[in-house]
Amino acid sequence: MPPTSRLRRHLRRLARKVGLAGRRGGLPIIYHPQYRLGISGIPLDALRAERIATFLLDGGWIGQDNLVEPHPAHVEALRRVHTGAYLRSLDDPHVVGRVLGLPLGPRETREAVELQRLTAGGTIRTGELALERQGPAVHLGGGFHHAGPHRGGGLCLLNDVAVAVAHLRNRGFQEPILVVDLDIHDGNGTRAIFAHDPSVHTFSIHNRNWEDPAATADTSLEVGAGVEDEEYLDLLRRELPPVVAAHRPGLTFYIAGADVAREDVYGDARLSDGAILVRDRFVVETLQEVRGRHPLAVVLGGGYGPSAWRPPARFLAWLLAGREVELPDDLSISLGRVHWMAGRTAGASSRGEGVLDRGGEPREQDRTDRALFSLTEEDLGALGGRPSQEGQFLGKFSAQEVERDLQRFGILEQARARGYAEPTVEILPSSGLGPTVRLYGSPDRADLLMELRVEVDDRILPSFTFLTVEWLLLQDPRSRFSTTRDPLPGQEHPGLGVLADVVAWLVTLCRTLALDGLAFRSSHFHMAALARRHLRFLDPDDQDRFQRILALTQDQTLAEASRSVAAGGVVDPGPPPEPLRWVEVPMVVPVSRRLKQQLSVA
Ligand SMILES: [Zn+2]
Repeated sequence: MPPTSRLRRHLRRLARKVGLAGRRGGLPIIYHPQYRLGISGIPLDALRAERIATFLLDGGWIGQDNLVEPHPAHVEALRRVHTGAYLRSLDDPHVVGRVLGLPLGPRETREAVELQRLTAGGTIRTGELALERQGPAVHLGGGFHHAGPHRGGGLCLLNDVAVAVAHLRNRGFQEPILVVDLDIHDGNGTRAIFAHDPSVHTFSIHNRNWEDPAATADTSLEVGAGVEDEEYLDLLRRELPPVVAAHRPGLTFYIAGADVAREDVYGDARLSDGAILVRDRFVVETLQEVRGRHPLAVVLGGGYGPSAWRPPARFLAWLLAGREVELPDDLSISLGRVHWMAGRTAGASSRGEGVLDRGGEPREQDRTDRALFSLTEEDLGALGGRPSQEGQFLGKFSAQEVERDLQRFGILEQARARGYAEPTVEILPSSGLGPTVRLYGSPDRADLLMELRVEVDDRILPSFTFLTVEWLLLQDPRSRFSTTRDPLPGQEHPGLGVLADVVAWLVTLCRTLALDGLAFRSSHFHMAALARRHLRFLDPDDQDRFQRILALTQDQTLAEASRSVAAGGVVDPGPPPEPLRWVEVPMVVPVSRRLKQQLSVA
């Protein structure tokens, strides 16, 4: 980070400290730690809310006092929207399982309903705060728009936005309400709930219409699959302003779905990150034209896959800063998130710790790392003697400690969110292939989710010692490849979406073991492409060759590109023309100050 932006961040924190921008002036962010429980079996990133909050806190955009914890919605509030018979049916695992699209036991059923009830409480609070402040309030969740009066659908059990609208009406709020639903799927449930209420206009742009008929006040726009930036934005620019001008809302709920993104693993739209920000800004600015300080309740809506935190984070940074802000990479967020959660547990505030761009100085967090990620001799003594080296990862960490780390980094939660209720860690005593950690979906070890083999290695760079990843398998064996995503070479099952969190964990192991950095040898082009999001090339020539291949294969999927490189089909035009091959090259995350200095000099 350049010194000027460091200064700016410092000034922002200072301003907050002296009360120039406290909770009253700042943006309320509604969030509950239980959101990380996710919905069992759904590829929602269970940590999306925490990643966004980490980004906002760590950048100094908000302080802990901007975060507002909601309470679960009262059943009475749910009854204003959903029928008694439907709410009773949510005790039945078959009913809930059908909505979520997978078989559920009684415990998972209860958890899924509790989570959506808490979410409904969160959207209620968001609406209240938007009205109180006559401005924006943001819920890091919500947008369960398929749920109708007497049925759920498409992952949605309880329609949180409709529950919030009904709650505010019950409290006497009478002005017109607008629901702008830009999740890529049809907001059919909300439309059905307000079918006969002209005071609530439901505006939805979606890929295809669901079954529900039109309402007295709705705009329902179908764009089909594969919609691109310009077509989408043109439609929004044409259709939204007249609705806002005619309806003149006194409160707007905006479902800022990120599943319009090209990278989304569920959605079939093809919007770029830039276009999504243009969309979000357009909604805010259109509403502000009607009324300068417009009460705006933002909820996240859909967004699937490990990058789904990015579009909302970009939008919120714009709301807070009034300009476009560059986002940190997924790895920094994973590390920052763990520090934030550790701070929460210890009752400390993480505000202003700046963990995302820490220098090489051993600072408070590094000491925290040691406390969190290792045991001292004394601890071991208290536990009744030093355990044998057998069955310990890197001769140091027991299966329980590794399991605790995987829990802390959210990896177990994400496995649970994919339907593996009891993820189980296995440590293999060091074999010829290196110390090994395996993560299974259950104690009977039927589904292998992760296999990691590492080595402490000083051959990568003279006089530096690395933790080298010899082998890393991350897979979701019960899931299937979608039609839009073909398998990568050698891949049997779709990925688990936890690479950034695993890399973040390994970086903290490097700190604990006082190693210089984390290293990985990318033996195939696609491996380099995946690793490049978190690791960098040691040799600038490798970086250069990578970029040239990337440019020559930009119209191909990653799987196609990798096969094509392996077959010698990617040819540098030259002269002379020359096939670009991928050979095994080292990639690293520098951890020690010494290595960071070495690499910045090189
Ligand atoms: Zn959606």
